[in-house]
Amino acid sequence: MKIICVGRNYAEHAKELNNPVNESPVIFLKPETAQNQQRQPFFLPDFSSDIHYETEIVVKICKLGKNIQEKFAHKYYEEIGIGIDFTARDLQSSLKAKGLPWELAKGFDGSAPVGKFVDKSTFEDVQNIDFSLKKNGQLVQSGNTSDMIFKIDTIIAFVSQYFTLKKGDLIFTGTPKGVGPVTKGDQLEAFIGEMHLLTVKVR
Ligand code: MG
Repeated sequence: MKIICVGRNYAEHAKELNNPVNESPVIFLKPETAQNQQRQPFFLPDFSSDIHYETEIVVKICKLGKNIQEKFAHKYYEEIGIGIDFTARDLQSSLKAKGLPWELAKGFDGSAPVGKFVDKSTFEDVQNIDFSLKKNGQLVQSGNTSDMIFKIDTIIAFVSQYFTLKKGDLIFTGTPKGVGPVTKGDQLEAFIGEMHLLTVKVR
């Protein structure tokens, strides 16, 4: 199982981190060990003092595919969920400044918790889904998938040119604006519409 992530896929978020909007999707991977079982706490790693949440719609791949055409991409996922792309922002900034890959800042243990998945037929249009994050009960991020720069089907077609997609692979589709830090004791709750699908306790 692999976790494929899209960076800078919402213009307002790219702007808040002073990043350009790219012509093709910005892709990075997280290892399987970045997965965290639901309800397990997220443990702050020792190597960072600035861990950020990034709330993202997650697509679960349902069958094997390579070089998938965009018009057929919808056949490769049946479930949609929500996850957090935890990021060691301080480490990422220093890696970016040196032109180095981001993996250490993105792929560490527990950095990709996902919640319960929902059948995509629940949604009239997967490119019009509201999602949000509360930190300690307060709304800190909200977005709608209509604001994605690269749509889900475009991402699937793009990444499948490079990586064979397999059943169970997850695609994190990017975060809207409003990312911010977590500290020990925080509780994060992620929602698709009114559905509360993920809780993460920070320890
Ligand atoms: Mg992200």
